[in-house]
This record gives sequence, C-alpha cells and structure tokens, in this order.
Amino acid sequence: MEKETIAKVRQLLAGQKKIVVVGHKNPDGDAIGSCLGLARVLNRLGHSATVIVPNDFPDFLKWLPGCETIVVHEQEEDKSISLINNADLIFTLDFNDLSRVGSMQQFLEDAVAEFVMIDHHQAPADYAVVTYSDVKMSSTSEMVYHFLDAIGELPALCADVATQLYTGIMTDTGSFRYPATTATTHKVIAHLIEEGANNAEIHQQVFDTNSEDRLRLLGLALKNLHILPQYRTAYITLLQKELDANNFKKGDTEGFVNYALSVKGIVFAVIFIENKQEKITKMSFRSKGDFSVNEFARAHFNGGGHTHAAGGRSNLSLSKTVTEFISILTNYKQQLTNAS
Ligand code: 5GP
Ligand code: MN
Repeated sequence: MEKETIAKVRQLLAGQKKIVVVGHKNPDGDAIGSCLGLARVLNRLGHSATVIVPNDFPDFLKWLPGCETIVVHEQEEDKSISLINNADLIFTLDFNDLSRVGSMQQFLEDAVAEFVMIDHHQAPADYAVVTYSDVKMSSTSEMVYHFLDAIGELPALCADVATQLYTGIMTDTGSFRYPATTATTHKVIAHLIEEGANNAEIHQQVFDTNSEDRLRLLGLALKNLHILPQYRTAYITLLQKELDANNFKKGDTEGFVNYALSVKGIVFAVIFIENKQEKITKMSFRSKGDFSVNEFARAHFNGGGHTHAAGGRSNLSLSKTVTEFISILTNYKQQLTNAS
C-alpha cells in the first residue's frame, strides 16, 4: 500500500466509527474469512464493525469464530439497511464492483458512508475513497493481513483473526497450490499459525465435513463430465432436478469444477449449474496456463473474476447455454491448443 493511502485510512479510522464490512453474493471462504478477520480487528480497536453479506454462506464455513454475528441481508433486511444507512465507513471485501452484491446494490449506492475497497479481482470500479486493489494477491484475506500490517495494527491479531484469515487464504489458493501462492503468502500463513490458527483443524473443518448428499451429487457431476479433447476443455452439467434429488445445499458444488480441470491435458474447465429459481444457468470457469477465463467470462457470459478462476451466467436454459458455449469455443481453438 502507498503512503498516501495509509494516511487516508488512518484518517478514516480516527475516533470511534460505525463500520460495515461487506462481502460479495454467494460468499466463499475468502469473502467470509477476510470480512470476519477485518471486522474483529476493527472491533478490538474500539470501532463498532458488523459484517453483512447479501445471502447465506455454506455450512463448511459455519464453524468459523464470529460467523454467528454475520448479518445476512436476505434474511435480516431491515437490520442490514439500518446498519448501512448509519455507517460512517463501509469496507467492501473480495469484490470490486457494486453489481456483485445482488439485492444490496441499491442500498450501498445510496449510502452516505465513505467506501474502502480491499480486493484482488481485475478491473476495480471507482466507488471507494481508498482502493487497495492487487490482482497478484492470493486472496483478499492475505490483503487484509498486509492492510493491517501497513496501518500498524498487526499486534491486534488474535487466534480468532488468525483462524479467519488462514481459512480465507487456504480456500482461495486451493490449499496453497494455485500460482498466486507466493513465498510471502507462506510467510503470512506461518505468522497466522504462530498467532493460533490451527491448520490441521481448519483443513478438517472445511474439507472433511462432507454430507452424504454432497458426495452423491459429486458422483452425479462426475457422471456428467464431458471431455472436448479438440479444445482441451472439459465440462460438467448439473440440472436443478439433479440438485433437488440430492438435497442440494449452498456450497455443495464448491470445487466440483476442479475435477474437470484435473483431467490430463485439459486447460479449460467449466461447470454449468441450472438455477430454476433465478431462471439462469450459472457457470464456474477454471483454467491452467495462459488461457484467461476472466476475459472469456467477461466477453461471453456477463461475468468475470481472475485469470484462472471466474464465473458467469446465461439467461438461456442449461442445454442451450452448453450449445452456445461449444460454438464459442471454435473461436478459441488455436489459443486452447497452444495454451501452456
Ligand atoms: P466461482 O466460480 O468459485 O463462483 O468464482 C470464481 C471467481 O470468479 C471468484 O473470484 C468470483 O468472485 C468470480 N465470479 C464468480 N461469478 C462471477 C460473476 O458473475 N461476475 C464476476 N464479475 N465475477 C464472478
Ligand atoms: Mn478471493
């Protein structure tokens, strides 16, 4: 972070402030971990900080310290709106465009509070007085650590904050295996373990708490795996009725797309998930090497994200979306064949 930015943050945090910390819609481990970690430190510093997320978060995060304090906008709209309207300061974490908060968007746009953005996605929008954006970062949770370091508040870390940030870094790096995982990431992790993050327990809580339903759904997803060797692409489909038959719960499909990417020779993987309620087909894109799924999602499916992990959506049915996707792939044949 630059000196002027740090000075501005210090100025914004002078005195006791009413603060809202917001994560994106369909919050993942990084959104929840970074929001909880930052809010906990702000509260320890004497502010009054509350985390708000647009909709519910997965069960595999519901053991995190402090997760019971999160206000889910969809479930407690009046409380959420009142917190937003009365806030002096709003931190937005792990997203960079107000369109990523679903039904909260209008309330954030109307808020009188000043905004601070901490985020690692590409192409940040211009709504914050402080924008700490770094696409090279492994996770927003790692950025929260660097943010606290820059403003001199690392001593406010405690075992709970270490656990929250560790969880965000671990989930966003695929357990420290994606290319954005750096030596610095590992140094941050080492410090978080020293501060009380229990790595074995966190891994167990997140990864070894599958329901039978989720594993049966994974079995079905793997049955629905299609390989397009000519495009070095693999995709998985899940229809609403398949989700329903396995008592789908939020977060159950998290990570499924990685099985498609793990096929030898595949550089581009997609999972198409039908959402009858929203009348959309949701897509998660993953890639390896120099093929950018962020650009692909932006160009064709009203989405975005990172170079190797992005999401998007289509208003067409699942089967029509797949057909459209395959026809678009023909334009990328050269790029995918040569991807390294
Ligand atoms: P996932 O596939 O795990 O839902 O998301 C992968 C990455 O892409 C995440 O960093 C997420 O924030 C981003 N992402 C997912 N869906 C969308 C979308 O519809 N629009 C944008 N801009 N980013 C998305
Ligand atoms: Mn993230």
